[in-house]
Amino acid sequence: MSYEPKRADFSVPVRINLYSDTQTRPTRAMKEAMLAAEVGDEQGGSDPTVWELCDRAAALLGKEAAMFMPSGTMCNQVAVATHCRPGDEILAHEDAHIQGSEGGAPGAISGVMIRGLPGPRGMFSAQTVREAIRPVSRYSPPQRLLEVEQTTNKGGGACWRIGELQAVAEVAHEHGMSVHMDGARVVNAAVALDAPLSEVVSACDTVMLDFTKGLGAPLGAVLAGPKDFIGQAWRWKQRLGGSMRQGGMNAAACIYALQHNIPRLAEDHANAANLARGMAQIPGIIVEAPETNLVFFDTSGAGLTAADFAARLRPMGVTISVSGTYRGRACTHLDISADRIGEALEIMRQAL
Ligand SMILES: *Cc1c(COP(=O)(O)O)cnc(C)c1O
Repeated sequence: MSYEPKRADFSVPVRINLYSDTQTRPTRAMKEAMLAAEVGDEQGGSDPTVWELCDRAAALLGKEAAMFMPSGTMCNQVAVATHCRPGDEILAHEDAHIQGSEGGAPGAISGVMIRGLPGPRGMFSAQTVREAIRPVSRYSPPQRLLEVEQTTNKGGGACWRIGELQAVAEVAHEHGMSVHMDGARVVNAAVALDAPLSEVVSACDTVMLDFTKGLGAPLGAVLAGPKDFIGQAWRWKQRLGGSMRQGGMNAAACIYALQHNIPRLAEDHANAANLARGMAQIPGIIVEAPETNLVFFDTSGAGLTAADFAARLRPMGVTISVSGTYRGRACTHLDISADRIGEALEIMRQAL
């Protein structure tokens, strides 16, 4: 089976892009930081700006070391490949990004299986993890890794509380498993929970942090963890073609994002809360209360699928994403100012 490239329709301009926080554009100031970056050959270990980013990210996350890669997906998959061996089993939420949105990479690259755990809002309890533990026997796949998402994407941008993470991690560690956090939006969680990043990720052995979501960089993510683990992960980065050359230009954008774009995530969360309140007033729309910058909603009461709703909004200059037959998602970010929310709501009312 082959797939058409997903080429956007450029004929109608997008005025209010609620499709994803991945669609932010680098600002002039961020581009200036990129222009000024000191660079070298990243693959050869001689790009000082990449090293600066890795050192900053490791410190911020409270881990020994960090490694820069082009995408969050690559960080997750390098983590899976480094933690696991073929035939191993990973425990993760049944809606996890590594399970449903990374092209089957855990199977294709690492030869591992994922056991999907149930639970509301993309999370599961320590008891659910306990029930999924298999007896150690030659019949069972070795269970090597527990994976958690912070914030949960399909779970509605919900945040694990620090105690909840400690509880599930404790069960995993008791049974000799490591814990990896898919922290594509972990910075949103830290802002929403008003807790230092290092505490939010402390229960996890390794963590991925993405710079291309709410932080607004054009490219890049880091994988952080123990020094020895990151040392082993380097071979997988090399194998997958993730070693770069003058990566410092992109690392400079990520450093800029760490310096300037963290506290402002609170605005995105406030905008999401306003959007949710307004959407809840629209007859036929049922909104899931947001915790961060993702607003999920159900369109069935309006007699429309989420795709129909999106198709009506598109010619009016608004984009949203579709996550199920009747489930849609609107996402606030750096390029959506507070005054755009009222405008988006007005267009949604008209569309229905
Ligand atoms: C976006 C996302 C990823 C993947 O990150 P990319 O940088 O797009 O590869 C992984 N996990 C979650 C939860 C995400 O939202």
